[in-house]
Amino acid sequence: MKRSLPGVSWKAIGILALVTAFLAAITFYALLSRRKPGAGEDVPPGRSIRAVFETHYSLCGCVMVEEREFEGGKLDLVSLSGTPVWQLAGAREGLSCFFRVVKDYCPEHSRFRLITLKDGVVAVYRGKRAVDGFLFKSYPELQEDLMTPDTRQALTTGVLVEGDPREVDQTVKLYLEGIID
Ligand SMILES: [Zn+2]
Repeated sequence: MKRSLPGVSWKAIGILALVTAFLAAITFYALLSRRKPGAGEDVPPGRSIRAVFETHYSLCGCVMVEEREFEGGKLDLVSLSGTPVWQLAGAREGLSCFFRVVKDYCPEHSRFRLITLKDGVVAVYRGKRAVDGFLFKSYPELQEDLMTPDTRQALTTGVLVEGDPREVDQTVKLYLEGIID
């Protein structure tokens, strides 16, 4: 008994020392790895390049401009979505400019319809605003005078409908069917 006691103690001290060293190593490693990103040394200089992409929508005349950044100094046109393919238009203020013409309406004019009143009847516009050139259809039979005050108020403000371009007009039609019983 007497001889084994010091042995147990030394073993315990040894284990304690090992555990302490292990914990110290973990703490040291954690501190090291935490310092790295903060110092900003490991962020690569990254020769990224920027380019401008313009999409012209021929049916409404809208132009969407996007600026994109490419890592690694290489323009990756393959990864860009959509057709038709991009054409190089030139350089502007040091940025490469690409363009393409899409024979369609822009996302706003294809996905949105505004139902409102015009000259006392219901009018449906392409897009989010009642702009003359974008009057989609007017309904002479849906007269303001025949509506409930609530419906008239809603349409005076304008009811915006959004949906898939292939379905949005069907949604508008369903809405209009509910206007006048
Ligand atoms: Zn448009």
